[in-house]
Amino acid sequence: MRQSSLVVVANRLPLDDNAAPDGACEWRRSPGGLASALHAILEQTPATWVGWAGGIGPAPQLSDIGGLRLRPVSLSAAELRGYYEGFANSTLWPLYHDAVQQPVFDRGWWETYRIVNRRFAEAAAEVAEHGAAVWVQDYHLQLVPQMLRDLRPDLLIGFFMHVPFPPPELYMQLPRRVELLRGMLGADLVGFQRPQAAHNVAQLAQKLLGAHATDDVITVDGRTVHTGAFPVSIDVAEMRALSSSPDVLSQAKQLRHDLGQPKRVLLSVDRLDYTKGIEHRLTAYSELLRDGHVKVRDTVMVQVAVPSREQVDSYQDLRDRIESEVGRINGEFGRVGEPAIHYLNQPFARSQLAALYQTADVMVVTPLRDGMNLVAKEFVAAREDGGGALVLSEFAGAAAELEQAFLVNPHDVDGLKETLLHAMSAEPADLSARMTAMREHLVGHDILAWARAYLTALDHTGRLAERLPDTAEKAPAASVPWHR
Ligand code: UDP
Repeated sequence: MRQSSLVVVANRLPLDDNAAPDGACEWRRSPGGLASALHAILEQTPATWVGWAGGIGPAPQLSDIGGLRLRPVSLSAAELRGYYEGFANSTLWPLYHDAVQQPVFDRGWWETYRIVNRRFAEAAAEVAEHGAAVWVQDYHLQLVPQMLRDLRPDLLIGFFMHVPFPPPELYMQLPRRVELLRGMLGADLVGFQRPQAAHNVAQLAQKLLGAHATDDVITVDGRTVHTGAFPVSIDVAEMRALSSSPDVLSQAKQLRHDLGQPKRVLLSVDRLDYTKGIEHRLTAYSELLRDGHVKVRDTVMVQVAVPSREQVDSYQDLRDRIESEVGRINGEFGRVGEPAIHYLNQPFARSQLAALYQTADVMVVTPLRDGMNLVAKEFVAAREDGGGALVLSEFAGAAAELEQAFLVNPHDVDGLKETLLHAMSAEPADLSARMTAMREHLVGHDILAWARAYLTALDHTGRLAERLPDTAEKAPAASVPWHR
């Protein structure tokens, strides 16, 4: 068994589903943000990635991708339902996102979640060399840190929560709240997107575990656990390069032409998820049309809603509601050849997204709650021209950094309408000043800066962070082909 000094453990391997069975595979840009976020690091640091390959039944044999080794974890159909669709995505996901959708507490799911977390921990224990650093990702695997510590006390264990960590009043609803908290605190360093999350965990550690806890250090079972905020970012250099490529620029021109050369294009790009605030946004836009503030011939809205978690009932219901509302709005306000909303329920490749970002006059990112929201950051990085306006929800982690965006409370439909109108009518000089300030922030806070900050905090010796280049700009060109 080959072992690595850096192991990433995440629900999914960064693979193309179709390519897996014969062992040949390519990197996949999944519609989720995690694979996008980590690729820049792993291309440069020989590591093993432990995760599910996407199929049901025995795990496939997978060859390395460039320098990255893959260790697939198997899931049965019943495990997929109980662990992934059930506990992770119908209990934890809604609860951690402010319970904007009622979390489901199904007693059967817990045991499956525990069994699957144990399998991931065992796989990580197998591929980690002595004293290795193991970086566990996200709410799917919250029990893994403690399980791994029990198996391999020699390891340096990190955990990063990509989604929000809720306030104690909400977390306390969880029937298995103590085990889950203990599981996560098995790590040496627990990272979050926002400082508030670390504060919430400190309060819960005091209350539920009797721990001594501050917002950055928790002492539990005689061990010290560090906590802190490490806002995740994007590969700024990649997005800049993509956006200035002649191919993308001509795609953007073509898109504008295909949209009928409107005065203004409003764009939203989301997974089709109830946390993304798509319904609130449609309500606001439809009212702007009804009130006559926006005219179909002048303005078009493009809503990309990537299919997501389609086996989960609440996601099917949401899709039905959104599609019926889009149909109603187009039926009422559209004209022949001129729909009010271009609705696209399909995933797009990176280059297509970059072209869409170029085409947008107003990028509308209005989640009801979001750990970070990488789309908002990608839009800013893509607009080297300084054009475009970003309307951004206060409830996205990105709002803490992109302060010059047009910030908005998406629950307040009147406020949302006003903010959209404000962004649509802003002066170019104002827009350019805002975009420049946000872009400057991102250049200094890209994905490699994130990884460096996290790994430096995890490993005080600096052994891990040393392997990363200073910034994405200095990184060698990717040796691995990309496709979505
Ligand atoms: N994305 C993509 N194709 C699409 C839509 C989105 O590759 O058609 C990518 C997008 O570029 C971003 C990620 O998926 O990197 C979405 O991350 P975000 O944090 O915005 O939302 P999440 O889906 O993780 O909730």
